[in-house]
Amino acid sequence: LIETKNLYKYFGKNEVLKGLDIQIKKGEVVVMIGPSGSGKSTFLRCMNLLEAPTKGEVYFEGTNIADKSVDVFSHREKMGMVFQQFNLFPNMTVLNNLILAPVQNKKMIKAEAEKKAKEMLSRVGLEDKVNAYPQSLSGGQQQRVAIARALTMQPDVMLFDEPTSALDPEMVGEVLSIMQELALEGMTMVVVTHEMGFARNVADRVIFMADGVIVEQGTPNQVFDHPQEQRTQDFLSKVL
Ligand code: ATP
Ligand code: MG
Repeated sequence: LIETKNLYKYFGKNEVLKGLDIQIKKGEVVVMIGPSGSGKSTFLRCMNLLEAPTKGEVYFEGTNIADKSVDVFSHREKMGMVFQQFNLFPNMTVLNNLILAPVQNKKMIKAEAEKKAKEMLSRVGLEDKVNAYPQSLSGGQQQRVAIARALTMQPDVMLFDEPTSALDPEMVGEVLSIMQELALEGMTMVVVTHEMGFARNVADRVIFMADGVIVEQGTPNQVFDHPQEQRTQDFLSKVL
């Protein structure tokens, strides 16, 4: 579904991604872990071209979206993204946050988008918050709205960048359990997280990144219980 080939990203002289090759299959749940500054967010943002790669290819459903002649918007709308900071529009109700993109992109007419949005809100357990404004919601609720908003676009893949890092501890669980349900329903997901329990229980594959390269990857059991590389062992000894 997503494939990167020899992906490089420089910010000036700072080489952040150094030739990354990855293949993500339909239905796969991939968790990316690694130290701060290793390039996890940049990698995720290159997958949907929120960051333009310096070099290399990014295939999404067979098209190289890093190719400048490709209309990246039409592809990106099939990739939902959820950020650490929920990025909801504060001056809009929950419902309007959800229907904005599909209606603007002319993907759906308003009535259809509203129907879909309400369906997605009930899926994240917030059907009673349709007319609420984001600031009246808890952090966990806002992040569930952000997930529902991404789902309203009916994406083929969901990208999560530390979706629970900005939450109070008691709200982490409600967001992770929504993500786990999505995974069980077969959604393709790429998740950057420090939640090692989630990685262990939900991931099909764990990727350990450091200094802009993939150091090691495998099943949660392989990476967490039998890490092969010294750098992976050092990292895990700090976080587990
Ligand atoms: P964290 O765990 O702290 O979120 P990360 O693994 O997600 O870290 P990135 O955010 O991808 O790391 O950052 C990797 C490197 O790229 C860092 O050195 C950062 O300073 C640099 N970087 C990221 N985004 C930009 C940008 N827009 N402009 C310049 N440098 C950037
Ligand atoms: Mg990051």
